[in-house]
Amino acid sequence: MAGTCPFCGHGHRVAKRVEYLYRFGERLMIVTDVPCLECEFCGEQYFAATVLKRIEADFHAIQNMGKKPMNTIQVPVEAYSNL
Ligand SMILES: [Zn+2]
Repeated sequence: MAGTCPFCGHGHRVAKRVEYLYRFGERLMIVTDVPCLECEFCGEQYFAATVLKRIEADFHAIQNMGKKPMNTIQVPVEAYSNL
């Protein structure tokens, strides 16, 4: 996965651990310390297919199979329709 960024063509991506926000309709899941490659130029992040599949599987397990998440937080919502 190292090497050129397919998004902008810049030649250097670095390994990082980041926070991943998974969204399915109105349901959200935050996963911390997710390994990825990030382009040093445009900031685009690339995740391995196995990592994304695991996030989807964990989301499904938590939503539908009663798996207990590590933590649960409340998320405030605002709308700026009148700006
Ligand atoms: Zn890039």
